[in-house]
Amino acid sequence: MTEEKLEKPTIEDFSREITRMLGGETITYCYQCGTCASSCPVAKTTDRYNPRQIIRMALLGQRYEVLNGDSIWLCASCYNCQERCPQKVEIADVIYALRNMAIREGNIPALYAEFANGLMSEGRLAPISKFLEKKRSDYGLPPLKPTGVEALKKIFSATGFDKIFFKKGEQP
Ligand code: SF4
Ligand code: SF4
Repeated sequence: MTEEKLEKPTIEDFSREITRMLGGETITYCYQCGTCASSCPVAKTTDRYNPRQIIRMALLGQRYEVLNGDSIWLCASCYNCQERCPQKVEIADVIYALRNMAIREGNIPALYAEFANGLMSEGRLAPISKFLEKKRSDYGLPPLKPTGVEALKKIFSATGFDKIFFKKGEQP
């Protein structure tokens, strides 16, 4: 029996993979000037987030660290960085591409999983709280019922979202 040799991934493999994703096409234009980080409102509030660093790690092939870390989920999608990047790197879109890759590998932050569950079961991102139910009842309004769930399920199925997001048997 011949032993099949697995090729070790190269540094470039990860950036190539990203450029093949929708939104990730421009990542390799980055020359690490840091304009994105200095324009980023999230980076101003926490050391845990730096868009320049995410791009650098990705270009250095640090696939596991990028897709399993929490940094990519901290971007607020304000597009400040993207407006200012001198190299026209579509940074916010690159981060969306990275999130899509992470989700496909099952790395889904609990909050996003809750949103998806809420959409699948009630047609809403956020559940209706007891407080809101009581307020509605105090004002004589009817209770809120699940809405548009069947239509959403069709969209999820047509786009493959349900298979990517929910493991077998986990669908609400
Ligand atoms: S502003 Fe653009 S070129 Fe500069 S570090 Fe950020 S992504 Fe790279
Ligand atoms: S889009 Fe994301 S990375 Fe860019 S400035 Fe806004 S929060 Fe920062």
